[in-house]
Amino acid sequence: MRRTILLSFCLLLLGASAVSALARGMTVEERRAMRMEKWGISVPYFAQSSSLASSASSAKTNNEQRTTSNVVTGSISIPILVYHHIRPTQGYAKSTWSWKMSVTPSVFERHMQWLADKGYTPIDLDTFACIMDRSCGMPDKPVVITFDDNNRSQYDIAFPTLRRHGFTGVFYLVANRLDNRANILRDEVREMAESGMDIQSHTMTHAWLTTRTPEQLTGELAESKRVLEELTGEPVRHIAYPSVMHNATVRARAAELGYVTGSIMDPRNARDSEDRFKLPRIMMTDETVLERVMP
Ligand SMILES: [Zn+2]
Repeated sequence: MRRTILLSFCLLLLGASAVSALARGMTVEERRAMRMEKWGISVPYFAQSSSLASSASSAKTNNEQRTTSNVVTGSISIPILVYHHIRPTQGYAKSTWSWKMSVTPSVFERHMQWLADKGYTPIDLDTFACIMDRSCGMPDKPVVITFDDNNRSQYDIAFPTLRRHGFTGVFYLVANRLDNRANILRDEVREMAESGMDIQSHTMTHAWLTTRTPEQLTGELAESKRVLEELTGEPVRHIAYPSVMHNATVRARAAELGYVTGSIMDPRNARDSEDRFKLPRIMMTDETVLERVMP
């Protein structure tokens, strides 16, 4: 009798988890395909050299190696924006990093509304890499909107705004900050990933990677990737170097460990000729004029 009850309980649990998995959606590939369809990107073909080849083997068998209608043949240039804090900036002098790393909530709202009004398509970083590799088609006016450092305001203010516009944002998270209430918490990260936000790595401890021993460097890169992948169930293949500290050793180790891009700060658009491990990002402040920044 007791065994029957236990068995029923186990089946119930199994059923519940299957339902929640279904409710949560689909496989990584299915979710990707859905996002791309939404962005108007024709079905990608996965060339051997594609950075997506490893994570898309099932899609490859389904779609064979067919070319796509909106793969760009000419040069490509895509802006990557970066935000840190969404908070009031009064009280901070313009010379300080506190000012430079903040935009007020109303400016952030205005930026997102401007992108929506002008018909920009915020994409995730796998799609960015796929477009740059010419393995995927390009949507209208692509842009990548990134956020660093797990700041709470990114969940409280940026996330709902992005969602309202149907935008995807890329959140570079420091993996050992996930239990700190001043930052975005684990459940919130999961919620963001399930809502289509792109969760990527800003290392394990926000360490300056160029100053680490080889073992520490591997830990910062590999452990953060593992922790974030386990949390969201999505691949983590992109890194933003904390404080832009990187060198040839850091970049090579990141590539060996499965990353396909690395981001720095540099106020210009990313081109297809770009070193994928030195992607320029444009720091957004209260005084950024999007008309001047965006192509
Ligand atoms: Zn940072």
